[in-house]
Amino acid sequence: MNASVDTIKAELKTRLKSLFSRARTKRGNRLLVHEIVSIQVISAALIGALAIAGLYWGGQWILQDNYGRWALQWTEELNELGSPLYLADDTEALIRLESYVERYPEIARVAYFDARGTAIISVGKTNDTEPVANLSARALHDAIAVVGNKEPYLMSKGILEPQRFEILAPLWKESISEDDLFDFDPSVVDSAERTELLGFVSINLDFVLFHDRLVDNIESAILVLLVLLMISALYGRYVLSKALKAISDLQEPIRELAKGNLSVKFEPAEHREIAEIVEALESTASALSARDAELLRLANHDSLTGLYNRRRFLEVLRHEITSVMRSGRDSALLFVDLDQFKYINDACGHAAGDRLIRKVADELSRSVRRDDTVARFGGDEFVVLLPHTDLAGARSTAETILANMRRMAHMEDERVFHVHCSIGVTMLSGTNLQQDELINQADIACREAKSGGRNRLHIFEPSADAEQQASAYIGWVNRLRNALDYDGFELRFQPINSISTGETAHHEVLIRLRGDDGKLILPDAFLPSAVRFGLMSEIDFWMIRHVAMAYAEESKSNPRLKLAINLSANAFEDDNLTAYIKKTFAEFGVRPSSIIIEITESLAIRRLAHVDQQIKSLRELGCEFALDDFGTGYSSFSYLQKLRFDYIKIDGSFVQDLPDNPVDQKMIKMIAEIGREAGMKTVAEYVRNAETFSILGELGVDLAQGFFIGRPAKRPKAKSAPISLTSRRIKLTASQTNLKLR
Ligand code: C2E
Ligand code: CA
Ligand code: CA
Repeated sequence: MNASVDTIKAELKTRLKSLFSRARTKRGNRLLVHEIVSIQVISAALIGALAIAGLYWGGQWILQDNYGRWALQWTEELNELGSPLYLADDTEALIRLESYVERYPEIARVAYFDARGTAIISVGKTNDTEPVANLSARALHDAIAVVGNKEPYLMSKGILEPQRFEILAPLWKESISEDDLFDFDPSVVDSAERTELLGFVSINLDFVLFHDRLVDNIESAILVLLVLLMISALYGRYVLSKALKAISDLQEPIRELAKGNLSVKFEPAEHREIAEIVEALESTASALSARDAELLRLANHDSLTGLYNRRRFLEVLRHEITSVMRSGRDSALLFVDLDQFKYINDACGHAAGDRLIRKVADELSRSVRRDDTVARFGGDEFVVLLPHTDLAGARSTAETILANMRRMAHMEDERVFHVHCSIGVTMLSGTNLQQDELINQADIACREAKSGGRNRLHIFEPSADAEQQASAYIGWVNRLRNALDYDGFELRFQPINSISTGETAHHEVLIRLRGDDGKLILPDAFLPSAVRFGLMSEIDFWMIRHVAMAYAEESKSNPRLKLAINLSANAFEDDNLTAYIKKTFAEFGVRPSSIIIEITESLAIRRLAHVDQQIKSLRELGCEFALDDFGTGYSSFSYLQKLRFDYIKIDGSFVQDLPDNPVDQKMIKMIAEIGREAGMKTVAEYVRNAETFSILGELGVDLAQGFFIGRPAKRPKAKSAPISLTSRRIKLTASQTNLKLR
């Protein structure tokens, strides 16, 4: 996870913002409250209108229904009132008629006609001067036809003015004959002989009055309705705004949320719907902040070890630089690089490598103070920041780390791994500090530590180290090329003695590069560059030839001379290796059985088919094989038994502190036992003192190499060890005196 938290946060923010701005651009000025209230009012108004229309229609219907009944009643009464007018000129009857018409406001006019339809008299409210017209023949005919009917009148309705009616009714007199007086049959009332038509009455009715009253009522109903609507709209608005306020109140916290403030507080809502929204928002906020925290963790930590990663470490370092510049108190930066870690990956797979890296991370964290920062910088590189530390403190912490790592043994399947490390130290002091520069310094110092022999620390010295680093990188290819072309290398011979007899068994041949000033450069300084620039196998071939030449020369005086030569993996990648060795040895008269080839564990373990083939044919030739640097990588004891080696060279890191390290003693004892059982001789490197030498003897190691026995020299010199196991008891006192004297 390389994405930085800031970019992730920024993206989150912009997404939320765009969401909000999209919402904003779509936003008009419509208010939810207004919309709901208007819907409410419109629907109420519609219902009201329907109710009023219903009221009007119902009112009309009731009125119309009544008109019919009144018409009958009026016809009968006016019939009775009008009859006298036909018989005599009765003023009294006329007055009665007038008062009758007066009593009913809906009666506009009453007119009487004679049997032939000629108007006789008319009484009306309106004093219209227009005389009443005679009845038309058709009206006459129709009116005569209803005589004797159940509803003995005609009713015509004004088409233009529905509230105006005209009723036309015939007036007749029923005369019963004397002989029928006693057996009067009421069912035969319309017998023509007994009915005498007097004339006709027409009644003009005007119900506008009622209609107007109805309309008046409806008008006030509408008014009431409007008032009610207004009140309900206002009240609805109030209630709704109150309910929606809870939603509007959410705007501010949501805006805060969008700004990235995930700790916003939402007010609890009283309505369930809104409470649910609040709840959803709250869980969104907490999910966001959980993800934020997770992203932060991922962005700051190395997923394998849980330590800070490079990004986070650089932040911490930046802070520390400011703090050092402000306070004037020194701090230290350590660059820790695992030695030969990649072989573990090669031999056991990445899962095993990962497990080991985790173990190393734990060990590192345990080795430092609480306030120190340990981070994983790259694959097998770690960095440690020690705040408020002087040079002595930094050195002691680095030594603690080295010691703890040395002690650490990691088991994988049946194999025991020892991963040691090189530490580069640089100090943060003064005012002109630059982050990149500091990292670079610690890195350079770490490389220095590596090339000084692994499993050690180096403290960066500004001028010397920087220069060395610069020259190291600029000129290596040319220098190595030149050395190959013009024999710029030299050989050194380091004796390897039998511990029991003290006699030199053989010499290891070591390469040196002649520097411009004539000083010799050690192989750890230039071999890594040779590997990187693809010159390694050429160097090995150069060595084969020059070792053969040296053998030819030295064997003249020392026929029992035996030499060990280091060959790299690159040499074995060259298919010509075996042929070249055969040819060269033949050329210089080298007895192959006098040559031991030292190869490293990584090469032996990888067991590539063609490597196996080459080892086999060199073996057949008579060469012996030594497994170099045993214990540094991934060796397993059971595996060791399967490989056929003549010598096992126990790595110097187990030997250099042997007297003080019981774990190393146990390891070496075990290696020696297995070697013996498998018929392999064991060699211990880095034997630097008498005590180590005698302990190695007790542990059962066969041979010893180291400055105590002899330093690499220009020529192979057979010399006996200062002490040997057989002479130890006799010589011990003497050698100790000897040592003291030196
Ligand atoms: P190595 O094969 O493990 O060789 C032993 C190294 O340990 C040598 O360092 C030797 O000088 C050093 N040594 C032995 N005893 C002591 C001691 O008591 N104290 C100290 N401080 N050092 C001791 P050197 O010569 O610097 O070689 C380093 C490595 O370079 C060798 O480690 C080997 O891996 C490589 N190398 C040296 N010469 C050749 C060569 O001709 N060809 C190849 N391929 N590699 C070589
Ligand atoms: Ca060696
Ligand atoms: Ca070695």
